[in-house]
Amino acid sequence: MREHYDVIVIGSGPGGEGAAMTASKGGRRVAVIDQDAEVGGSCTHRGTIPSKALRHTIQQLASDGGATDPDFHDLMRKADGVIRSQVQLRRGFYERNRVDLIAGRAAFVDANCIEVAGVNGGRNRYRADRFILATGSRPYRPPDMDFSHPRIVDSDTVLRLKETPRSITVYGAGVIGCEYASIFRGLRIKVNLINNRDKLLSFLDDEIIDALAYHLRESGVMIRHSEEYDRVEADDSGVRLHLKSNKVIHSDVLLWAQGRSGNSDAMGLETTGVQVNERGSVVVNASYQTAQPHIYAVGDVVGSPSLASAAYDQGRFAATHALTGVCEQSLVEDIPTGIYTIPEISSLGATERELTARKVPYEVGHAFFRHLARAQIVGRTTGVLKILFHRETLRILGIHCFGSQASEIIHIGQAIMTQPGEANTLNYFVNTTFNYPTMAEAYRVAALNGLNRVM
Ligand SMILES: Cc1cc2nc3c(=O)[nH]c(=O)nc-3n(C[C@H](O)[C@H](O)[C@H](O)COP(=O)(O)OP(=O)(O)OC[C@H]3O[C@@H](n4cnc5c(N)ncnc54)[C@H](O)[C@@H]3O)c2cc1C
Repeated sequence: MREHYDVIVIGSGPGGEGAAMTASKGGRRVAVIDQDAEVGGSCTHRGTIPSKALRHTIQQLASDGGATDPDFHDLMRKADGVIRSQVQLRRGFYERNRVDLIAGRAAFVDANCIEVAGVNGGRNRYRADRFILATGSRPYRPPDMDFSHPRIVDSDTVLRLKETPRSITVYGAGVIGCEYASIFRGLRIKVNLINNRDKLLSFLDDEIIDALAYHLRESGVMIRHSEEYDRVEADDSGVRLHLKSNKVIHSDVLLWAQGRSGNSDAMGLETTGVQVNERGSVVVNASYQTAQPHIYAVGDVVGSPSLASAAYDQGRFAATHALTGVCEQSLVEDIPTGIYTIPEISSLGATERELTARKVPYEVGHAFFRHLARAQIVGRTTGVLKILFHRETLRILGIHCFGSQASEIIHIGQAIMTQPGEANTLNYFVNTTFNYPTMAEAYRVAALNGLNRVM
């Protein structure tokens, strides 16, 4: 190991990986520091990958009419296999690109030097011309809740459940809460989903929100809106969640899924002049520079959109700026949202609510999955693709999809919607021949449905 690098990246999640690969391919000496034993970040070990692998295993089990009381350890074994493959792959990227991997927890000594505390107690200092923070985020834990109790878990520790509970209360109906409510309901256990707000995922299009609430309820999830946590009691027999409305929800396990905090604490940032807001998010400009121009921050530690997909791109953009002083691309905007509830959701661009508020003359085209041959063949007829377009120019303004493969289907529309000028047109879907039968055909059906409304 050297003591001085061109670029030091802290964190080996998608943000750190995107930054490190760009910097090393740009010919710089790069080191990546991570406190975890393996590369991949919380994305690979505690977030995206394990939750999606678990979801897939449970869905497969359900469609095979599988075990009625599957062991949670067995379910996680599949996820462990995927995690191992991902780690191996990602470690190979670093080795091939001659990026030094340093194990330990990094903290700034001053704005140009960090100290890394290794697992064996050793401490080493490293200096760099540029630093890129990609330290991610962790579940927010209210101070009055005892997370050492085996029945109280968050999205990190839920993956270490010893056995499959018979019932679970998910507190917090954001993306992670809704996903885990679906996943556990897929195991046919009793699920309570407690929402602080009066709607689920209020940033989505209303029709999609309604579809999600309907299908979660229909699958058996008990949703309670506009509720607030008061206190929790846990013992050997279960957990009792007391709500401010005086309701008491009993279950085997409580999954706290309310909020996340940026991993910006205990990193000596106060010695550097880097600013952090009240949610622990590092404040950056459009080029991902902090108040110290040679220190960049990307991914979950800078806050929204808190997606692996965005983190990777932010890492690439920040490293490009760090290397060249410019980056054409900037903050990630207009990126798709993929929500892996069952059924899944994906959306891109404006909702009807936003277009109405902005007084944009738009029209809607729908394609219901139950009308598509491919959906009928594969038995996935629950779902809809909805295209919002300008009624005069036919420019696509928003795409919203609910149903199986929604997070894949969205990208077909994205390819057209992100075209410049007149190339972004609904007509593409009418004038292009699609394979048949496919789910992609939904675009043609939705486009024709929408055009019928403007003729
Ligand atoms: C349950 C769940 C499901 C999710 N599902 C999806 C999904 O389907 N799609 C999607 O796009 N996103 C999803 N996300 C979000 C996604 O995981 C994050 O947006 C992504 O991991 C952020 O990447 P990152 O590089 O910013 O940080 P992370 O992946 O969090 O990696 C940060 C790394 O930095 C390390 N670190 C922190 N502090 C230090 C320090 N001081 N010194 C050394 N190392 C340090 C951490 O240990 C970690 O290894 C999900 C998240 C959760 C929790």
